[in-house]
Formats: sequence, structure tokens, C-alpha cells
Amino acid sequence: MGTASQELSEWIDGFLFVANLPILDLLNTKPVLADGPSELLSDVRALERWLIASEMVSSTKDKAVVRSWRNSVEAEGFLKHLIAFRERLRDAVLLIERGMLPSDAFLSEVNSLLLQYPRHTSLRKRDGKLTRETFVEFRKPADLWTPIVDATADLLTETESSRIRKCESCVIHFFDTSKKGSRRWCSMNICGNKLKVAAYQRRKHAGSKSVE
Ligand SMILES: [Zn+2]
Repeated sequence: MGTASQELSEWIDGFLFVANLPILDLLNTKPVLADGPSELLSDVRALERWLIASEMVSSTKDKAVVRSWRNSVEAEGFLKHLIAFRERLRDAVLLIERGMLPSDAFLSEVNSLLLQYPRHTSLRKRDGKLTRETFVEFRKPADLWTPIVDATADLLTETESSRIRKCESCVIHFFDTSKKGSRRWCSMNICGNKLKVAAYQRRKHAGSKSVE
């Protein structure tokens, strides 16, 4: 029931969003589909769509800025670097999922990006009070590191590591937000049903054997 709408919400603009955290869904931009591993961040246009779908870039103004980089060589350079970073982040997440910490080399890389692309802070009047708010200013494609590395830092420090998990039957990673913390699959539609059917068939097969 409601499977169709659930299925729809898992894919936004051609990208998979099943992780509950956009930074983990960055890893999921290279899923293994029926015909093998598939690079969904295939070009700058695709990157732009992912940044918007993931809400890494969310304001109307920022979306317009990012769209203006469609033919930018610098944006292409950023995408290449991001894809390489994604694979190092994947290694770090695989370690976390085994109860370990990411490598020192990866931490150095994250720290260096945090220094180069920090969030800015400003004071604003809100409801008769002053509040301190952080924001990102996209002036050049490399500034896209700011939300990426900020989300990475959150993932590494603020996120319950025992709930960061890989699907039991595919390469998709997710953050388990279920009450019991017992989520095993990327999605019921993608792997859950497949595994349930397989388990049912195994049981059926075992059952018919024992009868014989
Ligand atoms: Zn899966």
C-alpha cells in the first residue's frame, strides 16, 4: 500500500534518496543497477540536479548561481574532485560501519576543506531578537565544498555511528532513523521485497525437502 508514492519519493530527479542524510546519499550516487555500477553524477548538469534535489543548494538565488556554472571548466574540476572525495568518504563510512574511525589521511583532507571553505556567520534580527546564523556564499564552484564538508563533519561527529549502515544486499548506505534501529535494507522496493521473496522461497524449498 502506498508503494508507488514511496517509490517516487525515493527517487528525486533521477537520484536515489533513501539515506535520511544527503551526505550519505552522495555515496548513493553510484548505485549498482541491473547492468552494473552506474555513475549518476555523470556531468556538471547532473551535479547541479543532485545539489538541488539533495537541498545542498536550496535558495532561489543559490540555484540560479549554480545553474550559471553549467559550462564552467571550474565546475567540471570540482565535480572530478567531488567524485574522488566521495570514494574516500565511502571508505571512511565503511570503516565507521565496522566500528572503526576514518583514516588520518581522510581527516586531514576534511580538516583542510573545513579551513578553506568555512560557513560564514552573521547576526540577524529575528522576532525582536538578534540571532547568529550561518550561511554559505556561492561565488565560485569550489564554494560547493562548504555544504559538502559541513555535512561530512556532521556525519563524522554528530551522527550516531551505530545507525550508519550499508544495505544487507547492495551498495547503498543509509542512516537508520527507525524507532527500533533495526533497518536492514536500502528500501523495501529495491532490496527488501527481493530478499523477502528469496527467504520465502528458501523456506518453501526447505519445507518441501523435509516432507520428502
Ligand atoms: Zn539495497
